Amino acid sequence: MIATKAGAELGPALPPAPPRAAVLITGASSGIGYATALRLARSGFIVFAGVRREFDAQTLVREAGPDIAPLVLDVTDAVSIEHAAATIAARSDAKLLGLVNNAGIALAGPLELLPLDELRRQFEVNFFGAVALVQAFAPTLRTTRGRIVNVSSIGGKLASPFLGGYAASKFALEAASDALRVELGAFGVHVAVVEPSAVRTPLWERGAGLSLRSLEDVDPVRRAAYDETIRQIVRLSQRAANRGLPPERVAKAIEHALLSPKPQARYLLGAGARLQLAIARMPEAIRDRLTAAAIGAQTESPKRRGRSLIRSRARVGT
Ligand code: NDP
Repeated sequence: MIATKAGAELGPALPPAPPRAAVLITGASSGIGYATALRLARSGFIVFAGVRREFDAQTLVREAGPDIAPLVLDVTDAVSIEHAAATIAARSDAKLLGLVNNAGIALAGPLELLPLDELRRQFEVNFFGAVALVQAFAPTLRTTRGRIVNVSSIGGKLASPFLGGYAASKFALEAASDALRVELGAFGVHVAVVEPSAVRTPLWERGAGLSLRSLEDVDPVRRAAYDETIRQIVRLSQRAANRGLPPERVAKAIEHALLSPKPQARYLLGAGARLQLAIARMPEAIRDRLTAAAIGAQTESPKRRGRSLIRSRARVGT
């Protein structure tokens, strides 16, 4: 029995409610992360939604109610990750069963010109950020036999020209996911990767802006060789932002990876992704021509390249 200060008896103490299933999603302010946060909150999860601005936190709570617990989380900042881990650990009503590594940026542009600092940043967010989150939450997920979902891309299977830095970061995430699937699988933690083709989110327009800013300080003479390509990248980014899968389709796959009794190792999403995977498996000569054609660029056939090499060597006498 519990007695109040006034001496009245309240009956037997209720046992504490069992903790509810919880999930952490990085990059939940927009696009796929936002759609996934809403979907999982509606499915009954407590959703720890990583955002970087108070405004985004408020929008999420307004849309989805108290099951969304926004966290200020920058995946490139160790202190911010530590703080998020402590906040989640302090919630005795929540049992962390899932980590969704979704935060990402997309830097486009010719690898010859992109500043190395920007390329490093690309990796800091898309690759090291995801690994840092795995390192911070794997101990908890091992005890709960939880799951990890890494949001990769079909760009992690096929590198498009002028998206080389983005693709490299996603190839790295794919490799880490393959290793983690076995390393953490031994502890009952399932690791899945989600590989969509283009999705209708702000990613590409933001990426085009980022790329244009990154190229501002490049020597104009060197830049001139790529001027038309850069314009084409901006056009294609706008097209990708308007077409592509709805983010809710990706959210559904993420939910399957978290909840299904038979989660897949990979979720290839969209007809474009299946086509691009087929192209990735083709011989290089065909693959190069197809990836170049997709962005309206030219390639020289190996035969022609060979002939022009012989001609130029003949001219210089080598
Ligand atoms: P959005 O631009 O809508 O979302 C990206 C999210 O990542 C935003 O919430 C953004 O937060 C967050 N973010 C960026 N940098 C950081 C950081 N340092 N720390 C924490 N969060 C950060 O794009 P998408 O929804 O499309 O992208 C989500 C994932 O899906 C990415 O990994 C992307 O590569 C992948 N993907 C997207 C495809 C597409 O066509 N859109 C296709 C295939 C994969 P903020 O608002 O604060 O910047």
